Amino acid sequence: MYEGAVQDLIDELGRLPGVGPKSAQRIAFHLLSAESTDVGRLVSALTRVQEEVRFCVTCYNVAEGEQCRICRDPRRSDEVLCVVEEPKDVVAIERTREFRGRYHVLGGAISPIDGVGPDDLRVKELMTRLMNGAVTELIIATDPNLEGEATAAYLARLVSPMGLAVSRLASGLPVGGDLEYADEVTLGRAFEGRRRIDA
Ligand SMILES: [Zn+2]
Repeated sequence: MYEGAVQDLIDELGRLPGVGPKSAQRIAFHLLSAESTDVGRLVSALTRVQEEVRFCVTCYNVAEGEQCRICRDPRRSDEVLCVVEEPKDVVAIERTREFRGRYHVLGGAISPIDGVGPDDLRVKELMTRLMNGAVTELIIATDPNLEGEATAAYLARLVSPMGLAVSRLASGLPVGGDLEYADEVTLGRAFEGRRRIDA
């Protein structure tokens, strides 16, 4: 263990997802020996992200401003809404160029083990959008794992009285995986072959 500032840095880095204690230590010592201009750029990127990036008031994607780029785009369809877990999933689906509707970012998935229920996600906000909006088709693009499936089943049941067309991405996605790790072709195909859910 190290003293003061160095240990604080290692501890903070170690709290990042995917960074174990060894990596945290390696990154910390890299930063200690890096040029001060490089470190300055990193610090300024972190500060800017905190100060400037917010969540879109409509879909909860990341946005610089009130609304994200996708919600502001008048050429996109208001009739098809795609529900995803995280902003990174929006990026993954956008890469496929298969989708021209709008998004709704839940902020996670239902996971009883982690104590995450529907009230911890932006489900109420989704329902408000569906009730006020022009949406006729809902595509549920949660991750193809246990939590994602549970969330999809829950949402399909919840919206079934609304008479929307509800679909889930087709199989072919790696089961147990994360949407963002699927390649564009696989994800694009899963999108095209989405199946209607009858809850
Ligand atoms: Zn938005």
